Amino acid sequence: MQVFAFFEESIVEDLVIIGAGPAGLTAGLYAARARLKTVVLEKLSPGGQILMTDWVENYPGFPDGLSGFELVDRMKRQAEKFGLKIESHEVKGLELSPEKKIITHDGGVLETRTVIIACGANPQKLGIEGENLLTGRGVSYCATCDGPFYRDQEVAVVGGGDTAVEEALFLTKFASKVFLIHRRDELRATKLLQERAMAEEKLEIIWDSIPKKIVGQKEVEGIDLSNVKTGQGSFLPAQGVFIFIGYRANSNFLDGIVQLDEHGFVVTRGDMQTSVPGVFAAGDIRSKLLRQVSTAVGEGATAAFAAEKYIDNHK
Ligand code: NAP
Repeated sequence: MQVFAFFEESIVEDLVIIGAGPAGLTAGLYAARARLKTVVLEKLSPGGQILMTDWVENYPGFPDGLSGFELVDRMKRQAEKFGLKIESHEVKGLELSPEKKIITHDGGVLETRTVIIACGANPQKLGIEGENLLTGRGVSYCATCDGPFYRDQEVAVVGGGDTAVEEALFLTKFASKVFLIHRRDELRATKLLQERAMAEEKLEIIWDSIPKKIVGQKEVEGIDLSNVKTGQGSFLPAQGVFIFIGYRANSNFLDGIVQLDEHGFVVTRGDMQTSVPGVFAAGDIRSKLLRQVSTAVGEGATAAFAAEKYIDNHK
């Protein structure tokens, strides 16, 4: 009887963190230091979207910047130094209530006292003809991954936010010409990035234009555009089309389980708790103003601290 009670106790985790990007790794670091029995589940390799970022220059403490890969590798090593367990599994099902939290993944089932959802967001698609067909054959959502293939070629970048401008500037290292296609006559990106874009000779902004179709059979040949002010159509020849028009939360598996906002991001309180007591969210998956590594790590720390308090209060 005693043995059974011990076994039952031993299979309950204090905390399961879903996602090992900056938010999940920071939550894991804090949880490991708080000696919570913690598992991080990550379906791909640790890092999240930051792995697609060539150079991070606005994360405090690194005045010369550092690669997304190095930043996340440092976070992972730091968390593991304090004993954090990161397992490679995809979550298949969730049963979350104030009383019971069960996570089914492709390698088994976990019962846990608290959960932190930190599974981030994925690039938004344009949803136009040719996009799916030519993905991986000229259409890309990652300049760091695919930029070097376009040495001395002409490429188009779609979007006007920080990501689009930053990645367009990165692509000028390889491409002979980068066209930045934006649907308005003013960029959304930070002023500093706008200034850099304007100063870059290889970069040309095509204003007030939306892509209608990505043209090509086996590989990208160009992009059909429409001017939103004049209604005039045009064809822009390009060998690559990079799409950076924002992100969608990886929250399909949370629908009906925790409260989501109208765009699918997880709604939390200031302490990162979701609509289910004992379930927290951190990082890009949260409904919030600013999606940055610096905001993700603060939320990860807060969520882990709040989970620890939750466990203390529910003993
Ligand atoms: P974003 O700020 O949401 O910008 C998306 C851009 O795509 C906007 O310019 C938008 O146009 C355009 N767009 C949206 N849907 C479109 C469509 N269907 N067709 C054509 N254009 C479309 O997304 P983001 O640039 O990926 O940035 C996401 C977050 O990460 C932001 O908070 C950003 O500040 C942050 N970020 C920061 C850095 C940095 O600090 N270095 C780097 C990358 C990202 P409109 O402007 O007309 O809406």
